[in-house]
Amino acid sequence: MKGLVYTGDKAELVDGLDVRAPGPTEVKVQIVAAGLCHSDLSVIDGTIPWPAPAVLGHEGAGIVAEVGEAVTNVKPGDHVVLHTLAYCGTCRYCITGKPYYCRSSMGNRTQPFTLNGEPAWNFAAASFFTEYSVVEGKQCVKIPDDVPLESAALVGCGVLTGAGAVWNRAKLERGQTAVVFGVGGVGLNAIQAARIAGASRVIAVDTIPEKELWAREFGASDFVLAGPGVDTVAAVRGLLPFSDDAVTGPFEAGGADWVFDCVGAPATIRQGVDMLDWGGTVVIVGVPAPTAEFTARVTHMTHVERGVIGCRAGSHRPHHDVALIIDMYRRGVFKLDELVTAKYPIEEWQTAVHDLHEGKLARGVLTLS
Ligand SMILES: [Zn+2]
Ligand SMILES: [Zn+2]
Repeated sequence: MKGLVYTGDKAELVDGLDVRAPGPTEVKVQIVAAGLCHSDLSVIDGTIPWPAPAVLGHEGAGIVAEVGEAVTNVKPGDHVVLHTLAYCGTCRYCITGKPYYCRSSMGNRTQPFTLNGEPAWNFAAASFFTEYSVVEGKQCVKIPDDVPLESAALVGCGVLTGAGAVWNRAKLERGQTAVVFGVGGVGLNAIQAARIAGASRVIAVDTIPEKELWAREFGASDFVLAGPGVDTVAAVRGLLPFSDDAVTGPFEAGGADWVFDCVGAPATIRQGVDMLDWGGTVVIVGVPAPTAEFTARVTHMTHVERGVIGCRAGSHRPHHDVALIIDMYRRGVFKLDELVTAKYPIEEWQTAVHDLHEGKLARGVLTLS
C-alpha cells in the first residue's frame, strides 16, 4: 500500500508499505482522511527527533476494517475518529481521569509496518498518511456515519489540542479574557472553545493579515497583527486596560487572564507573560525544539500570582472530549467543516506542505480513498 514516509532527512510517498494484522487489543483501520499537522513537518525537519523509516500522520479518521478478539468498543464498518493517546487504561493516572499522564502514552514507538519487506516505525502511536494503520482499540472513538470523515479527521490532534487547552487545562471561566497566539489549526480551536466557554474577550494574534477573517469567524473579538516594529504586548494591553483612565495599574495590572500560545516559541511565551493581568496564566500549547528555553521577570509572577503552564495535546480524555466535540458539531455549536481549508489526494502532499508553510491553511486534509 501507499503512504507518506519519513526517510531520515525528508518525506517520500512510497508504494511498498504493509501493516501487520491487529493483536488482541488492536484495530486495523482503513484511513479515509488525515490532517496535516505542524508536528508531521517537525519530524521531517528534525525538530521532533524520530527514527526512520516511519509512516507519518497522526490526526485521522476512517472505517474499522478488522478488530482483535478483545476489542469491544468498535466493530468492522464503524466510522471512527483516531487519537494518539495510547494509554494503558489501568494505571493510577488512567483510572483517575488523566490518561494524558499515563506513562505508556508517551514515546511508545513500535514497528507495525514494513517498507519493501523491512520493519518501519509508526509515528505518535498513529501513522495515518497511509491506507491502513493498526492502533489500540482505545484509540478509536466511534462517531455517527453522517459526520464527514474529512472534517472528523481533525478532531484527534488540532481540535482536541486547541479546545482542550481552554476547557481542560485552563478551565476558562465565563467572563474571563483570552489571548490566542497563532491562528492555525490549533489556535482557531482555542478561539472557538474560549467563545463557547463564555470568554468576554478573545484576542487573536498572528503575523498574517488574512487570518483576521478566520479568527473572527471562529469567535475572536479582536485581532492583533504581529510583526516587525509592532509592540504586541502594548497592543493587547491597549485592548485590555486596567481602567478607563490607565492602561496599566499597580504591578502591571490589566491585561489578559489567559494566554494560549499555540506558536510555542520563546518570544511568544515571553510576550504572553508580559501581557498577563494579576493571576493570569500562559498556557504553552505549541511545541518548540526540545532545547528551547525562555526567560521571564520573576517578581512579575510571584507578587501577583501570574503563571506559566504546559499543556499536552489539550489534556484530553479522548472518549469524553471527542464525543463531546462531535456532538457539538452536529448541533451546530462547534465548527469543524470550516477548519478544512483544502483537501488533497495524498499524491499532492507536497502542495499541502507548501500551502501550510505559506499560511494558506487552517488545516489541509490529505485523502487516502
Ligand atoms: Zn498534531
Ligand atoms: Zn495508564
